[in-house]
Amino acid sequence: MKKLTISLIIMTLVVSSVILIVNHQTKQGLLNNSKNNHLNSHYATSKLENHQNKPTKKVLESEQKTTNKQVSKKAAAHSKKVKKVVITIDPGHQKRANIAPEPVAPGSVETKYKATVGSMGIVTRKPEYAITLEASKMLEKKLKQKGYQVILTRTSNDVDLSNRDRAQIANKHKSSLFIRMHADGAENSNAKGFSIIAPTKDNPYTKKVFKESRKASKSIVEEVGKEFSLYQNGVNYRAGLSGFNWSRVPVILIELGYVTNPEEDRNLSNKKYLEKLTTYITKGVDQYFHNL
Ligand SMILES: [Zn+2]
Repeated sequence: MKKLTISLIIMTLVVSSVILIVNHQTKQGLLNNSKNNHLNSHYATSKLENHQNKPTKKVLESEQKTTNKQVSKKAAAHSKKVKKVVITIDPGHQKRANIAPEPVAPGSVETKYKATVGSMGIVTRKPEYAITLEASKMLEKKLKQKGYQVILTRTSNDVDLSNRDRAQIANKHKSSLFIRMHADGAENSNAKGFSIIAPTKDNPYTKKVFKESRKASKSIVEEVGKEFSLYQNGVNYRAGLSGFNWSRVPVILIELGYVTNPEEDRNLSNKKYLEKLTTYITKGVDQYFHNL
């Protein structure tokens, strides 16, 4: 009897512990399940979201890829085009003038001096020919970095090159653009501003290159005006310049600023200023060839 009671007690204890364990495990299981359910539902939602997003994302990605492809295709085509482009830059004037006469245009009886020294900085006393050479070298470097072939009509101040000679260098190299670099001068020291001179529409010597010359001028003036807080006088048209008349390729004359204006004179002798200015001129030139 006693044995039976003991074994009954043991059985009860065993059974209740089993129940307890099972119960605990079930609860745990339930908890885990609910956790899993939550995770699952989250997973499901994100899956759903992913699913819903997937086509849009893909479309966007492929659209982006197409745009990128088009952009890189265009860029590749542009850089291919650029490599064939020759730009001649003429740093205006020279150290010693050559006052021998030279016809202002092919077949013309009218003459002008072969070469002059140009203006001089009102404050810095820096001669125009030195400024134009510095700016031209900067422009040359920047255009070459973009892939253009660049010819300089002179690389030192001690040369003897007439305006006709300079234009003929541009012609000989079949340049796509002939850029003449100058600085302005005026009696009035208040006169200031960057500008570009292009041949007039009715100039018979530059008739064939008028449109392109105007286009290039506008492009540069636009870029310089867009990015650079600089006073400018836009594009002006002039006839009677030997350097234009002898050019058979699109030709423009950049007036970097007035050396007779104290502020602009100092600016033009400031390397940082010239670097900035030539950067925007480069942008304008590059933009012109982009749109060509
Ligand atoms: Zn000049």
